[in-house]
Amino acid sequence: MHFIDTHTHLYDEAFDEDRSDVIQRTIASGVDRWIFPAIDSASFRSQIAVYEQYREHTFMGMGLHPTSVAENWKEELQFALDELNNHKDRYIAVGEIGLDAYWSRDFFSQQKEVLATQLEYASQNNLPVIIHERSATEDMLEIVSAFKGRLRGVFHAFTGSVETYRRIAGLGGFKVGIGGVVTFKNAGIAKTVADIPLEDILLETDSPYLTPAPHRGQRNESSYIPLIAAKIAEIKGIGIKDVALQTTKNAEELFGLPAKNSQI
Ligand SMILES: [Zn+2]
Repeated sequence: MHFIDTHTHLYDEAFDEDRSDVIQRTIASGVDRWIFPAIDSASFRSQIAVYEQYREHTFMGMGLHPTSVAENWKEELQFALDELNNHKDRYIAVGEIGLDAYWSRDFFSQQKEVLATQLEYASQNNLPVIIHERSATEDMLEIVSAFKGRLRGVFHAFTGSVETYRRIAGLGGFKVGIGGVVTFKNAGIAKTVADIPLEDILLETDSPYLTPAPHRGQRNESSYIPLIAAKIAEIKGIGIKDVALQTTKNAEELFGLPAKNSQI
């Protein structure tokens, strides 16, 4: 079975000590492709270094993350846009981008402007977007709906209700990223996943965060993707192979990756 971790930060310093071991385990688990969303200029050096080392497995997004929108947001936004413009062959998506009112609202209006600028860039350049949204669902849906019909992408780390999923699906061209939270005891998202068509689901770990059971409390890594797939299979009463096949196809189509299904 092949899986794609559509959202992982294996370039994070949390992996500096044992990154090659983690990546070996990840490939051995069947997760042989992954996507690195960007955060900001500070984390870029590590992102590009790990990408260069694992070129055949790694795909990248570029964008300014909402929690990195601060006093220097104009320079940071320009950095992301320059990188996208100057290295088009490197990037399969604009992201991660979005709104985060959970950690801080200090620069919330700037977050909106940064998001809208990056959505416009993605739309004009026909790139999918990787969206981060926390405690800002209404603002997010309002901003993205202005691009209805001319934008596609994923709402990553989705833990919302069925109603919110339906509103996202109604935007056209959007899928949701399901990660470790679905394995948590009494997780609301497990109930929601039952009502989300498999065609609209991408697998992701968000490593090193949001670790699935039974590793909760420890560092997350991309080799745990099969745990998430197994939980989705259990919820839907289907085989893990079906989850692997369909979610891989979903990711390949959304991000324009070469199809691997025939090799399963
Ligand atoms: Zn992320």
